[in-house]
Amino acid sequence: MIIEQAAYDAIVAHARRDHPDEACGVVVGPEGSDRPERVVPMLNAAMSPTFYEFDADDWKKLYDEMWDNDEEAVVVYHSHTATEAYPSRTDIAIAQLPTAHYVLVSTRDGADSLTYDGPVEFRSFRIVGGEVTEEEVKVVTAFSERHSTELHSSETGEN
Ligand SMILES: [Zn+2]
Repeated sequence: MIIEQAAYDAIVAHARRDHPDEACGVVVGPEGSDRPERVVPMLNAAMSPTFYEFDADDWKKLYDEMWDNDEEAVVVYHSHTATEAYPSRTDIAIAQLPTAHYVLVSTRDGADSLTYDGPVEFRSFRIVGGEVTEEEVKVVTAFSERHSTELHSSETGEN
């Protein structure tokens, strides 16, 4: 799973904001692009430290919006506030998007604090038919490789 630094930071910030409740949301991208571009924090209707559930109205609204714009939920994320960043049995049971990357962030052990400077557990999984497969998370400055190359070559040109 490849994600931009800004989106990564927004997810971690949201998890911290909602701690000690679980935070949840979606990162939307163009259909079929596999690029999580726009972070959409959602309401955790369960307002629980151990469970998340998208608010039905929020989800319907987002779904209609994505449909209109040929977008999809590339990433579905939520936080665990006292346990590791690994899908729970419930998470696996409610995972309905086989093409989505399920991201888990843990804010346990003080990671919810803005002054926390240790590593943040940020992991990504595919959940298909009850099977969980972890995947590598690659954080990039920007998606556009052409843009990066241009930046790189112009830097080289200046040298
Ligand atoms: Zn969970």
